[in-house]
Amino acid sequence: MLTDISDVVFCENRERTEQIPVGLTSFDSRLGTFPILNRPVAEFTFENRENRKLLIHCVTDVRVAVPCGRCLTEVPTDIHLVSDRELSLEEGTVREEEMEDISYLSGWNLDADRLIYGELLMNWPAKVLCKQDCRGICRVCGQNLNEGDCGCEKTERDPRMAAIQDIFNKFKEV
Ligand SMILES: [Zn+2]
Ligand SMILES: [Zn+2]
Repeated sequence: MLTDISDVVFCENRERTEQIPVGLTSFDSRLGTFPILNRPVAEFTFENRENRKLLIHCVTDVRVAVPCGRCLTEVPTDIHLVSDRELSLEEGTVREEEMEDISYLSGWNLDADRLIYGELLMNWPAKVLCKQDCRGICRVCGQNLNEGDCGCEKTERDPRMAAIQDIFNKFKEV
């Protein structure tokens, strides 16, 4: 959905707030596809500061299903986004060097979904766990160890295996 903000761009010191529904239903990146579980509404404030700066402020809360880093169970994860963008206005246009960063603007239409996608990318949680003491899955049989032990437990406790697993985990986190 595009929102026309030319009224702010062309009116000195005008400030306007608008609630914009977010149209994203999933977050797709090279990390995978993550369903968005809520219907976020973003509160945007647009401000023209003395015809020199255009400020775009945005706040929203997005709830995303992210797999637990150990057992892969989907965890509903709330991501609070606060974004502040500042663009230089020169004769009613944005300075050239800032253009590549503003794919969320087409002319003076704001693509809120695109801006929020970029914010999600920058604020993506590093590690999500279903619970702090999640026991993960057995690497031998694939059983979710939160649901009970499996017969492979002796192997898991073997210190040599543990060392190999540490290496495996480090590799995974890269
Ligand atoms: Zn887990
Ligand atoms: Zn097992």
